[in-house]
Amino acid sequence: MEIIHVSAECYPVAKAGGLGDVVGALPKYQNKAGHHAKVVMPMHRTKFLYENSWEVDAKGYLAIGGHYYNYTIIKEATHKLGFDLYLVDINGLLDRDKIYGYDDDSYRYLAFQIAILNWLSSWEHRPDIIHCHDHHTGLIPFMIKNCFDYRKLQSVPTILTIHNAQYQGWMGWDKSHWLPAYDSWKWGDLDWNNTINPLASGIKCAWKVTTVSWSYLNELKYNSNGLEALFEYEKGKCIGILNGIDNDVWNPDTDTYLKHHYNVKTVDKGKEKNKQALCKQFGLNEAVPLVIFIGRLVGEKAADILPESIKVILHGMKDSVAFLIVGTGDTAIEWQLSMMNNLYPGYYHAVIGYNEALSHEMYAGGDFLLMPSRVEPCGLNQMYAMRYGTVPMVRSTGGLQDTVIDMGDWEGFGIRFNHASIHDIYYSISRAVGVYQDKVQLSLMRKTMMNIDHSWDKTVNEYIMVYQSVL
Ligand code: ADP
Repeated sequence: MEIIHVSAECYPVAKAGGLGDVVGALPKYQNKAGHHAKVVMPMHRTKFLYENSWEVDAKGYLAIGGHYYNYTIIKEATHKLGFDLYLVDINGLLDRDKIYGYDDDSYRYLAFQIAILNWLSSWEHRPDIIHCHDHHTGLIPFMIKNCFDYRKLQSVPTILTIHNAQYQGWMGWDKSHWLPAYDSWKWGDLDWNNTINPLASGIKCAWKVTTVSWSYLNELKYNSNGLEALFEYEKGKCIGILNGIDNDVWNPDTDTYLKHHYNVKTVDKGKEKNKQALCKQFGLNEAVPLVIFIGRLVGEKAADILPESIKVILHGMKDSVAFLIVGTGDTAIEWQLSMMNNLYPGYYHAVIGYNEALSHEMYAGGDFLLMPSRVEPCGLNQMYAMRYGTVPMVRSTGGLQDTVIDMGDWEGFGIRFNHASIHDIYYSISRAVGVYQDKVQLSLMRKTMMNIDHSWDKTVNEYIMVYQSVL
């Protein structure tokens, strides 16, 4: 099968979160399984762009809202990622430093989608599947179905994977003239609550919709930022497929970001050495359990309750636990977390920013990973933590619920709690401190979770079955 993944992110080219990890790994594993998966994404100005060699694959033009742009599609020349990678360059629109966060994001990403469809329409053959990821690519199924220019592609099945339904890409109806001419009877395919809603449109028009865990799919019927009724209505074509992880990138035995490698047999010693290095770097007390948090500092991740929770814990359980945080997001949370940096010497440090290398060192050197998320479609952090022998402490929601078993249950290895509240975090940390004192139990928990296989090898077939169901 020839599968075209269309995405805003793809690791290691450009990544803001889990979407990048998934699109950087799934196609590789699909190719290993004998398919021909390719990735198309915007040409962001990232380090990867400047450090690799490229060849021009195609050039063309597109019209959006009465403006004309040239586009160029470049292809990574060495196939080093295990799949064909294409970047779309539209001068002035896509060649920017950040992936998201510009006022004209709706316009930029629509231009990106139009460029891709113009390009695919110019091919002599048709791909077997177009696989869209999140709302930035959510208008592709609509355009293929209803725009006159893309009739040639109408028989190509579109799949939409929802990594995060909180962001939907809403646009006012005054922007409808940006779209290529379409059958105006079908305007309802674009609309949700009187706005153009790319995610809702993708759900309506894609042949199949997948979400990144079963539990998240169930939650979306009750809590999906306004799309609840749509998920209920379209449930027949929605499927939950748990994300996998890239075992080549996330392997404590070979991870190039780590100075001290280890595996399941040497985990206790290996983690100790990594913890020592980490604690030394940030002036933390290495004798107490090290709790880490890695992620976007936003309400979805319950990062807003972190500062207060940590203060309460560091007062209530003085000198018994240390925290290390890396994250970026809401300015108010960033500010609160960094202001605490001098208050608890030896027991707290926050690094504000995105730091891939540090995140790997933290998975290796941390004892516990805290994820009190209010919403977690799948969550990759907890799976990386397990692979590195770091005990996940998670709220029971979405993919966290599907992947972590509480240590009090049969074959359990993690700590689960029900509420994103200071009380639940406090209680969970006190359980963690107890586990940390019992070295035999801690070592057993580490080994149990490191032996779990969360790799794409296990789940790649589930996507193939979805494709086959529409072909
Ligand atoms: P989401 O996609 O909602 O942000 P996921 O758990 O699916 O959450 O994926 C998060 C990914 O982003 C993980 O690979 C995590 O290590 C990484 N990550 C998040 N924030 C940072 C950061 N500040 N520095 C380094 N890596 C980060």
